[in-house]
Amino acid sequence: MKREKWIVTSAWPYAYGVPHLGNMVSSLLSADIFARYLRLKGHDVISVTGSDEHGTPIEVKAIQMGIQPKELTDKVHKQILEILEKFNIRFDNYTRTHNPVHIDYVRSVFKKIYENGYIYTQTDKQLYCEKDQRYLPDRFVIGICPYCGYEGARGDQCENCGRLLDPLDLISPRCAICGSPPVIKEVLNYYFDLPRFSERLLKWLESSETLTENAKNFSIQMIRQGLKPRAVTRHNKWGVPAPFPGAEGLTIYVWFDAVLGYVSAVKEYFEKRGEPDKWRDYWMDRETNVAFFIGKDNIPFHTIIFPSLLMATHDPYTLRFHIGATEWLTYEGKKFSKTKGIGIWCDEAVELLPADYWRYTLTYIRPETGDTDFTWDILEYCVNKELNDDLGNLVHRILTLIKRYLGGRVEKSETPSEAVSRLRNLSREVAENVDRLYLETRFQRVLHEVMKLVREANATLNIEEPWKLRDNRERLNAVMYHLALTIRDVAVMLHPVIPESSEKILRYLGMEKPSWSLLGDEPSEIVISQEFTPLFSKIDKESLKRRLEEMRSMSEERISFEEFMRIDMRVGYVEKAEPKEGSKNLIRLKIRVGDKTLNVLAGLRKYYRPEDLQGKKVIVVTNLEKKKIMGEYSEGMILAADDGKGNVKILTVEGDIEDGARVR
Ligand SMILES: [Zn+2]
Ligand SMILES: [Zn+2]
Repeated sequence: MKREKWIVTSAWPYAYGVPHLGNMVSSLLSADIFARYLRLKGHDVISVTGSDEHGTPIEVKAIQMGIQPKELTDKVHKQILEILEKFNIRFDNYTRTHNPVHIDYVRSVFKKIYENGYIYTQTDKQLYCEKDQRYLPDRFVIGICPYCGYEGARGDQCENCGRLLDPLDLISPRCAICGSPPVIKEVLNYYFDLPRFSERLLKWLESSETLTENAKNFSIQMIRQGLKPRAVTRHNKWGVPAPFPGAEGLTIYVWFDAVLGYVSAVKEYFEKRGEPDKWRDYWMDRETNVAFFIGKDNIPFHTIIFPSLLMATHDPYTLRFHIGATEWLTYEGKKFSKTKGIGIWCDEAVELLPADYWRYTLTYIRPETGDTDFTWDILEYCVNKELNDDLGNLVHRILTLIKRYLGGRVEKSETPSEAVSRLRNLSREVAENVDRLYLETRFQRVLHEVMKLVREANATLNIEEPWKLRDNRERLNAVMYHLALTIRDVAVMLHPVIPESSEKILRYLGMEKPSWSLLGDEPSEIVISQEFTPLFSKIDKESLKRRLEEMRSMSEERISFEEFMRIDMRVGYVEKAEPKEGSKNLIRLKIRVGDKTLNVLAGLRKYYRPEDLQGKKVIVVTNLEKKKIMGEYSEGMILAADDGKGNVKILTVEGDIEDGARVR
């Protein structure tokens, strides 16, 4: 067999939040299964991916949380590393886009592309918030969708109708940070001249021996419809600084930065090993295969954007691309949604069940030819029936019989019956099919094939009835020897999907590390381990659901009673209310709270006339840090209810109570 060079990678998890089961199956898990398969086959494999940390969604979320973007991505990156560990997903390098190797690499690539003449500038209109003194790209703007009228549409996309938007398309746009209406300014943007690559991309796609027909046809059609130049710069702060002359203060658009991570992650991997130039042996060898595991919506970034960036460097990068794109996974028939609590997130999953249970079930429903649905029933079926009853029991019965009747040892022998010969032939046939199916990234079918063999082995065991062969030791040995080989074959073939259980089976059989070359091997004897325990145990979906609910209610961020009691809230009496000079928003209130009078500035002019507040009893937080607003200190905050739709009402007391009374 020829030892091939492979780079295996997946879509980079966005460091905005923890991935859910659907993200897991299409990217990280698929890449892990594929890399493990290639390693079993003895190929030269480097597997890399990482957290995608840049982009406006993260920057906006961090600003809203009052933290730096990196604090947010540090936290999510760490969570993802823990999930990978617990899911038994191993990359040679799981990195992040905000690392110096990546940033330097992205800058060097764009510098080269610029020098090669594929970048030009253009003046665009751009929204700008005068209050925050920043440009508002993508998600920095919220407004009304021009297509469906949805009120909370974001500058890059409408969540309601799914259409891609430009911030300037929005009706009544407002700043996502402060809510004020932005102004339009003219700015200089840097564009990548994508149409110049149309011919070369077409030629590459048409002659590719590695891309699927689906990915090819889809991409060819997009190119024939005409490619447009793409803006590669953004006027925001969080990202890779653009390296073009005159582009100070601009960053590279997150998508252009993220795809280059496929290269920089390999570069960083070798740098860490003290071989800083070795990445070229992989990326700049046209024979190297590169496999991407992504959701189908990302295909154009891998068949159009990424290859044209590589072409634009004029360097000899490999374009031997394989794309394992999946459709969508839903959860009990619905779209995953964190805000609506629909779905299971990977940090929860690993707390509920062992990794192999999830890995098997997710592979069983991997959306390969159409959308698929995760249900608790399928989870229960996969674990209780396929893993526990079919596979787990088979392995346990075979080991127990060898231990009990043959002293834990079987010797090489001919197949003793037609049933056993049939089983061994099936094993060879299944191995051939599975080999091909792994390479075609049809992992779901792999399970069907292997389980066919498992069921046939169970049937053979029942036909041969080895427990009745105690007087015919020779035949007993022959039957059990071939059954032991069969579960070894199953363990090897399923290793990419359920590595932990597979290694356990091989250990019980007294065998070493899994390898594809074990298939077909007939050792002179097999001495099994004296100690073995059942591989799986049954689950109950109702109790799992209850545990999930419990976990969720525990993990909601709560403050302690003591923390709550530290907030000093009092009833206050508004003695005086007047507009704050020079402000459209603020009202100055003199609030009597027992024997003190506080000076409070409240942003209520839009909702109340000052005279309407005078004489009212309000609720005041008296121990907030003092804040200077427009040259004047505000000594407290009055509480008001805000429904987010422009309705704001102050809180007051029902009935009569003296000012200064404590609120709790
Ligand atoms: Zn819409
Ligand atoms: Zn603003």
